[in-house]
Amino acid sequence: MRRKLPPVVHEALASLHDELLPVTEGELADYIAPLAQARPDRFGLAVCTPEGGFAAAGEHDEPFTIQSISKVFTMALVLGDRGLEGLLAHVGAEPSGESFNAVSLEEGTGRPDNPMINAGAIVTCSLVEADSPSERFDRILAMMSGCAGRELDVDENVFEHEYATADRNRALGHFMRSAGSLTAEVEPTLEVYLRQCAVLVTASDLAVMAATLASGGVNPFTEQRVMSTEAARHVLTLMATCGMYDASGEWMLRVGSPAKSGVAGGIMTASPAQFGLGLYSPLLDAKGNSVRGVRACHRLSERFSWHAFALPADRLLPAALEDDDAEGVDSEGESVEGESVEGAGSASSD
Ligand code: GLN
Repeated sequence: MRRKLPPVVHEALASLHDELLPVTEGELADYIAPLAQARPDRFGLAVCTPEGGFAAAGEHDEPFTIQSISKVFTMALVLGDRGLEGLLAHVGAEPSGESFNAVSLEEGTGRPDNPMINAGAIVTCSLVEADSPSERFDRILAMMSGCAGRELDVDENVFEHEYATADRNRALGHFMRSAGSLTAEVEPTLEVYLRQCAVLVTASDLAVMAATLASGGVNPFTEQRVMSTEAARHVLTLMATCGMYDASGEWMLRVGSPAKSGVAGGIMTASPAQFGLGLYSPLLDAKGNSVRGVRACHRLSERFSWHAFALPADRLLPAALEDDDAEGVDSEGESVEGESVEGAGSASSD
Protein backbone atom coordinates (compact mmCIF):
# COMPACT_ATOMS: atom_id res chain seq x y z
CA MET A 1 0.00 0.00 0.00
CA ARG A 2 1.32 3.43 -0.93
CA ARG A 3 2.04 5.75 1.99
CA LYS A 4 2.01 9.46 1.50
CA LEU A 5 5.24 11.41 1.63
CA PRO A 6 5.56 14.87 3.20
CA PRO A 7 3.93 17.69 1.21
CA VAL A 8 7.32 19.20 0.37
CA VAL A 9 8.02 16.21 -1.88
CA HIS A 10 4.64 16.35 -3.67
CA GLU A 11 5.02 20.09 -4.12
CA ALA A 12 8.55 19.80 -5.48
CA LEU A 13 7.37 17.34 -8.16
CA ALA A 14 4.24 19.32 -9.04
CA SER A 15 6.03 22.65 -9.37
CA LEU A 16 8.84 21.11 -11.40
CA HIS A 17 6.26 19.58 -13.70
CA ASP A 18 4.61 22.96 -14.28
CA GLU A 19 7.93 24.71 -14.69
CA LEU A 20 9.39 22.28 -17.22
CA LEU A 21 6.27 21.48 -19.23
CA PRO A 22 6.75 24.55 -21.49
CA VAL A 23 10.22 23.26 -22.49
CA THR A 24 9.89 22.06 -26.07
CA GLU A 25 13.53 21.41 -26.90
CA GLY A 26 14.55 17.99 -28.12
CA GLU A 27 13.26 15.49 -30.66
CA LEU A 28 11.11 12.38 -30.55
CA ALA A 29 12.98 9.17 -31.36
CA ASP A 30 11.94 8.26 -34.89
CA TYR A 31 14.12 5.29 -35.78
CA ILE A 32 11.43 3.12 -34.17
CA ALA A 33 8.34 4.39 -36.04
CA PRO A 34 5.71 4.19 -33.25
CA LEU A 35 7.92 6.23 -30.90
CA ALA A 36 7.56 9.19 -33.27
CA GLN A 37 3.80 9.15 -32.48
CA ALA A 38 4.40 9.96 -28.80
CA ARG A 39 2.87 13.19 -27.48
CA PRO A 40 5.63 15.75 -26.83
CA ASP A 41 3.57 17.41 -24.09
CA ARG A 42 3.61 14.34 -21.85
CA PHE A 43 5.66 14.66 -18.69
CA GLY A 44 5.33 12.45 -15.63
CA LEU A 45 7.38 12.13 -12.45
CA ALA A 46 7.10 9.75 -9.51
CA VAL A 47 9.15 9.00 -6.43
CA CYS A 48 9.00 5.91 -4.26
CA THR A 49 10.91 5.10 -1.07
CA PRO A 50 12.00 1.68 0.20
CA GLU A 51 9.32 2.04 2.92
CA GLY A 52 6.59 2.44 0.29
CA GLY A 53 6.29 6.24 0.44
CA PHE A 54 5.02 7.54 -2.88
CA ALA A 55 4.48 10.90 -4.59
CA ALA A 56 3.87 11.76 -8.24
CA ALA A 57 3.00 14.55 -10.65
CA GLY A 58 1.91 14.96 -14.28
CA GLU A 59 1.37 11.95 -16.53
CA HIS A 60 2.97 9.46 -14.17
CA ASP A 61 0.54 6.73 -15.22
CA GLU A 62 1.07 7.12 -18.98
CA PRO A 63 2.47 3.90 -20.49
CA PHE A 64 5.56 3.95 -22.73
CA THR A 65 8.14 1.35 -23.71
CA ILE A 66 10.99 0.81 -21.28
CA GLN A 67 13.65 0.50 -24.03
CA SER A 68 17.21 0.66 -22.68
CA ILE A 69 16.14 0.80 -19.05
CA SER A 70 15.36 -2.92 -19.45
CA LYS A 71 19.11 -3.61 -19.69
CA VAL A 72 19.44 -3.07 -15.94
CA PHE A 73 17.04 -5.90 -15.11
CA THR A 74 18.51 -8.38 -17.59
CA MET A 75 21.91 -7.66 -16.10
CA ALA A 76 20.52 -8.37 -12.61
CA LEU A 77 19.10 -11.68 -13.84
CA VAL A 78 22.44 -12.76 -15.34
CA LEU A 79 24.23 -11.78 -12.12
CA GLY A 80 21.85 -14.14 -10.32
CA ASP A 81 22.41 -16.92 -12.85
CA ARG A 82 26.17 -16.67 -13.29
CA GLY A 83 27.58 -14.25 -10.71
CA LEU A 84 29.73 -11.22 -11.45
CA GLU A 85 32.63 -13.24 -12.86
CA GLY A 86 30.24 -15.12 -15.15
CA LEU A 87 28.98 -11.82 -16.56
CA LEU A 88 32.40 -10.19 -16.81
CA ALA A 89 33.73 -13.14 -18.78
CA HIS A 90 31.50 -11.95 -21.64
CA VAL A 91 30.77 -8.24 -21.11
CA GLY A 92 33.04 -5.46 -19.78
CA ALA A 93 32.36 -2.89 -17.08
CA GLU A 94 33.85 0.24 -18.62
CA PRO A 95 32.02 3.31 -19.95
CA SER A 96 32.29 3.33 -23.74
CA GLY A 97 32.16 7.10 -24.17
CA GLU A 98 30.27 6.33 -27.37
CA SER A 99 26.63 6.37 -28.37
CA PHE A 100 24.36 3.57 -27.17
CA ASN A 101 24.34 1.77 -30.52
CA ALA A 102 28.05 2.10 -31.30
CA VAL A 103 29.83 -0.83 -32.89
CA SER A 104 32.74 -1.19 -30.49
CA LEU A 105 34.36 -4.17 -28.83
CA GLU A 106 37.11 -4.09 -26.24
CA GLU A 107 40.57 -4.61 -27.66
CA GLY A 108 42.15 -7.88 -26.67
CA THR A 109 39.06 -9.59 -25.21
CA GLY A 110 36.48 -8.75 -27.91
CA ARG A 111 33.91 -8.09 -25.15
CA PRO A 112 31.37 -5.30 -25.59
CA ASP A 113 32.29 -2.45 -23.20
CA ASN A 114 29.39 -2.77 -20.74
CA PRO A 115 25.83 -4.19 -20.39
CA MET A 116 24.19 -0.74 -20.72
CA ILE A 117 25.01 -0.20 -24.39
CA ASN A 118 23.21 -2.19 -27.06
CA ALA A 119 26.13 -4.50 -27.88
CA GLY A 120 26.60 -5.44 -24.23
CA ALA A 121 22.88 -5.76 -23.64
CA ILE A 122 22.48 -8.17 -26.57
CA VAL A 123 25.24 -10.41 -25.17
CA THR A 124 23.80 -10.10 -21.64
CA CYS A 125 20.44 -11.24 -22.98
CA SER A 126 22.03 -14.34 -24.47
CA LEU A 127 23.49 -15.20 -21.03
CA VAL A 128 20.11 -15.54 -19.27
CA GLU A 129 19.79 -19.22 -18.44
CA ALA A 130 16.84 -20.83 -20.24
CA ASP A 131 16.00 -23.77 -22.49
CA SER A 132 14.43 -21.62 -25.19
CA PRO A 133 14.29 -17.95 -26.28
CA SER A 134 10.69 -17.69 -25.07
CA GLU A 135 11.63 -18.99 -21.62
CA ARG A 136 14.53 -16.52 -21.64
CA PHE A 137 12.16 -13.65 -22.35
CA ASP A 138 9.64 -14.86 -19.76
CA ARG A 139 12.36 -14.80 -17.10
CA ILE A 140 13.37 -11.25 -18.07
CA LEU A 141 9.74 -10.12 -17.98
CA ALA A 142 9.25 -11.80 -14.60
CA MET A 143 12.28 -9.94 -13.22
CA MET A 144 10.95 -6.59 -14.48
CA SER A 145 7.45 -7.37 -13.19
CA GLY A 146 8.84 -8.39 -9.80
CA CYS A 147 10.64 -5.05 -9.54
CA ALA A 148 7.52 -3.13 -10.62
CA GLY A 149 5.25 -5.14 -8.34
CA ARG A 150 2.75 -5.84 -11.12
CA GLU A 151 2.52 -7.94 -14.29
CA LEU A 152 4.08 -5.97 -17.14
CA ASP A 153 3.26 -6.47 -20.80
CA VAL A 154 4.79 -5.99 -24.23
CA ASP A 155 3.77 -3.37 -26.80
CA GLU A 156 3.70 -5.76 -29.77
CA ASN A 157 3.42 -2.90 -32.26
CA VAL A 158 6.64 -1.28 -31.03
CA PHE A 159 8.34 -4.68 -30.98
CA GLU A 160 7.25 -5.55 -34.54
CA HIS A 161 8.38 -2.20 -35.92
CA GLU A 162 11.74 -2.28 -34.24
CA TYR A 163 12.35 -5.90 -35.14
CA ALA A 164 11.56 -5.21 -38.80
CA THR A 165 13.99 -2.28 -38.97
CA ALA A 166 16.72 -3.41 -36.55
CA ASP A 167 19.50 -3.41 -39.12
CA ARG A 168 22.01 -1.79 -36.81
CA ASN A 169 21.34 -4.06 -33.82
CA ARG A 170 21.32 -7.04 -36.21
CA ALA A 171 24.68 -5.92 -37.61
CA LEU A 172 26.01 -5.57 -34.05
CA GLY A 173 24.87 -9.13 -33.36
CA HIS A 174 26.59 -10.56 -36.45
CA PHE A 175 29.73 -8.54 -35.81
CA MET A 176 29.92 -9.86 -32.24
CA ARG A 177 29.25 -13.40 -33.40
CA SER A 178 32.07 -13.19 -35.93
CA ALA A 179 34.35 -11.85 -33.17
CA GLY A 180 33.33 -14.71 -30.86
CA SER A 181 31.81 -12.41 -28.23
CA LEU A 182 28.27 -13.57 -28.96
CA THR A 183 28.05 -17.34 -29.07
CA ALA A 184 24.24 -17.64 -29.31
CA GLU A 185 22.31 -17.36 -32.60
CA VAL A 186 21.81 -13.72 -33.62
CA GLU A 187 18.14 -13.74 -34.64
CA PRO A 188 16.54 -15.34 -31.55
CA THR A 189 18.80 -13.29 -29.27
CA LEU A 190 17.85 -10.09 -31.06
CA GLU A 191 14.18 -11.01 -30.74
CA VAL A 192 14.47 -11.44 -26.96
CA TYR A 193 16.45 -8.19 -26.65
CA LEU A 194 13.97 -6.14 -28.69
CA ARG A 195 11.03 -7.67 -26.87
CA GLN A 196 12.49 -6.67 -23.51
CA CYS A 197 12.88 -3.11 -24.88
CA ALA A 198 9.17 -3.08 -25.85
CA VAL A 199 7.85 -3.78 -22.33
CA LEU A 200 5.35 -1.12 -21.26
CA VAL A 201 5.91 0.81 -18.04
CA THR A 202 4.87 4.13 -16.50
CA ALA A 203 6.91 6.70 -14.56
CA SER A 204 5.25 5.28 -11.43
CA ASP A 205 6.47 1.79 -12.35
CA LEU A 206 10.00 3.10 -12.89
CA ALA A 207 9.90 4.76 -9.46
CA VAL A 208 8.96 1.44 -7.84
CA MET A 209 11.54 -0.47 -9.90
CA ALA A 210 14.21 2.04 -8.88
CA ALA A 211 13.07 1.84 -5.25
CA THR A 212 13.50 -1.94 -5.47
CA LEU A 213 17.12 -1.37 -6.47
CA ALA A 214 17.45 1.27 -3.74
CA SER A 215 16.30 -1.24 -1.16
CA GLY A 216 18.83 -3.87 -2.17
CA GLY A 217 16.50 -5.89 -4.39
CA VAL A 218 13.31 -6.04 -2.30
CA ASN A 219 10.11 -4.58 -3.76
CA PRO A 220 8.74 -1.99 -1.30
CA PHE A 221 5.10 -3.06 -1.80
CA THR A 222 5.14 -6.82 -2.40
CA GLU A 223 8.15 -7.20 -0.08
CA GLN A 224 9.36 -9.89 -2.48
CA ARG A 225 13.13 -10.22 -2.90
CA VAL A 226 13.64 -10.10 -6.68
CA MET A 227 17.44 -10.00 -6.76
CA SER A 228 20.30 -10.29 -4.29
CA THR A 229 21.64 -7.22 -2.47
CA GLU A 230 24.88 -7.76 -4.31
CA ALA A 231 23.19 -7.81 -7.73
CA ALA A 232 21.34 -4.58 -6.87
CA ARG A 233 24.64 -2.97 -5.89
CA HIS A 234 26.35 -4.14 -9.08
CA VAL A 235 23.62 -2.80 -11.38
CA LEU A 236 23.51 0.52 -9.54
CA THR A 237 27.27 0.77 -9.99
CA LEU A 238 27.10 0.30 -13.75
CA MET A 239 24.13 2.66 -13.95
CA ALA A 240 26.35 5.27 -12.27
CA THR A 241 29.21 4.84 -14.70
CA CYS A 242 27.44 3.88 -17.95
CA GLY A 243 23.67 4.35 -17.56
CA MET A 244 23.31 7.64 -19.41
CA TYR A 245 25.54 6.54 -22.31
CA ASP A 246 28.02 9.18 -23.41
CA ALA A 247 26.39 11.69 -21.04
CA SER A 248 27.14 9.53 -17.97
CA GLY A 249 30.07 11.62 -16.73
CA GLU A 250 28.21 14.89 -16.83
CA TRP A 251 25.14 13.27 -15.30
CA MET A 252 27.18 12.00 -12.37
CA LEU A 253 28.74 15.42 -11.95
CA ARG A 254 25.45 17.31 -11.94
CA VAL A 255 22.97 14.79 -10.50
CA GLY A 256 25.17 12.26 -8.72
CA SER A 257 22.88 9.22 -8.56
CA PRO A 258 22.91 6.00 -10.60
CA ALA A 259 20.51 6.29 -13.53
CA LYS A 260 19.34 4.63 -16.71
CA SER A 261 17.51 6.16 -19.64
CA GLY A 262 15.64 4.81 -22.65
CA VAL A 263 14.84 6.26 -26.09
CA ALA A 264 11.09 6.32 -25.47
CA GLY A 265 11.82 9.08 -22.91
CA GLY A 266 12.02 7.20 -19.62
CA ILE A 267 14.62 7.80 -16.93
CA MET A 268 15.02 5.84 -13.72
CA THR A 269 17.37 6.92 -10.94
CA ALA A 270 17.91 5.65 -7.42
CA SER A 271 19.73 6.47 -4.23
CA PRO A 272 20.43 3.44 -2.00
CA ALA A 273 18.15 3.26 1.05
CA GLN A 274 16.61 6.61 0.10
CA PHE A 275 14.43 6.64 -3.00
CA GLY A 276 13.69 5.57 -6.53
CA LEU A 277 12.60 8.15 -9.09
CA GLY A 278 10.88 7.50 -12.41
CA LEU A 279 10.40 10.12 -15.13
CA TYR A 280 8.82 10.15 -18.53
CA SER A 281 8.97 12.78 -21.23
CA PRO A 282 9.58 11.75 -24.83
CA LEU A 283 11.55 14.71 -26.26
CA LEU A 284 15.20 13.62 -26.35
CA ASP A 285 18.51 15.44 -26.42
CA ALA A 286 21.30 14.57 -28.89
CA LYS A 287 22.55 11.73 -26.65
CA GLY A 288 19.13 10.08 -26.50
CA ASN A 289 18.16 11.20 -22.98
CA SER A 290 14.85 12.88 -22.07
CA VAL A 291 15.33 16.67 -22.02
CA ARG A 292 12.71 17.39 -19.35
CA GLY A 293 13.72 14.28 -17.41
CA VAL A 294 17.39 15.29 -17.25
CA ARG A 295 16.53 18.86 -16.27
CA ALA A 296 14.11 17.72 -13.59
CA CYS A 297 16.82 15.51 -12.07
CA HIS A 298 19.34 18.37 -12.10
CA ARG A 299 16.87 20.52 -10.17
CA LEU A 300 15.74 17.85 -7.74
CA SER A 301 19.28 16.72 -6.94
CA GLU A 302 20.29 20.30 -6.27
CA ARG A 303 17.23 21.01 -4.18
CA PHE A 304 17.41 17.89 -2.02
CA SER A 305 21.22 17.50 -2.12
CA TRP A 306 21.09 13.83 -2.99
CA HIS A 307 24.45 13.67 -4.82
CA ALA A 308 26.22 10.45 -3.83
CA PHE A 309 29.37 12.38 -2.98
CA ALA A 310 27.77 15.26 -1.11
CA LEU A 311 28.92 15.53 2.49
CA PRO A 312 26.39 13.79 4.77
CA ALA A 313 25.76 17.09 6.54
CA ASP A 314 24.62 18.63 3.25
CA ARG A 315 22.25 15.83 2.38
CA LEU A 316 18.76 17.08 3.04
CA LEU A 317 16.99 14.23 1.35
CA PRO A 318 16.52 11.99 4.41
CA ALA A 319 14.72 14.83 6.21
CA ALA A 320 12.58 15.55 3.17
CA LEU A 321 11.50 11.95 2.84
CA GLU A 322 10.73 11.39 6.49
CA ASP A 323 7.08 10.51 6.68
CA ASP A 324 5.38 12.71 9.22
CA ASP A 325 2.04 10.97 8.81
CA ALA A 326 2.57 7.24 8.57
CA GLU A 327 -1.19 6.60 8.79
CA GLY A 328 -1.87 8.44 5.56
CA VAL A 329 -2.66 6.48 2.44
CA ASP A 330 -2.24 7.96 -0.98
CA SER A 331 -3.23 5.22 -3.36
CA GLU A 332 -3.79 7.64 -6.23
CA GLY A 333 -0.39 9.25 -5.82
CA GLU A 334 -2.03 12.68 -5.75
CA SER A 335 -0.71 15.65 -3.83
CA VAL A 336 -1.71 15.77 -0.19
CA GLU A 337 -2.12 18.65 2.21
CA GLY A 338 -0.33 19.00 5.55
CA GLU A 339 2.63 20.39 7.44
CA SER A 340 5.89 20.83 5.59
CA VAL A 341 9.07 19.18 6.81
CA GLU A 342 11.26 21.62 8.63
CA GLY A 343 14.34 22.62 6.70
CA ALA A 344 13.64 20.50 3.66
CA GLY A 345 11.95 23.29 1.74
CA SER A 346 14.96 25.57 2.03
CA ALA A 347 17.27 23.16 0.31
CA SER A 348 17.34 25.07 -2.95
CA SER A 349 20.75 26.48 -3.77
CA ASP A 350 19.39 29.80 -4.92
N1 GLN B 1 15.47 -0.64 -28.43
C1 GLN B 1 16.44 0.41 -28.49
C2 GLN B 1 17.60 -0.01 -29.36
O1 GLN B 1 18.04 -1.11 -29.24
C3 GLN B 1 16.92 0.77 -27.13
C4 GLN B 1 17.94 1.89 -27.15
C5 GLN B 1 17.74 2.92 -26.10
O2 GLN B 1 16.73 3.01 -25.41
N2 GLN B 1 18.71 3.79 -26.00
O3 GLN B 1 18.09 0.74 -30.18
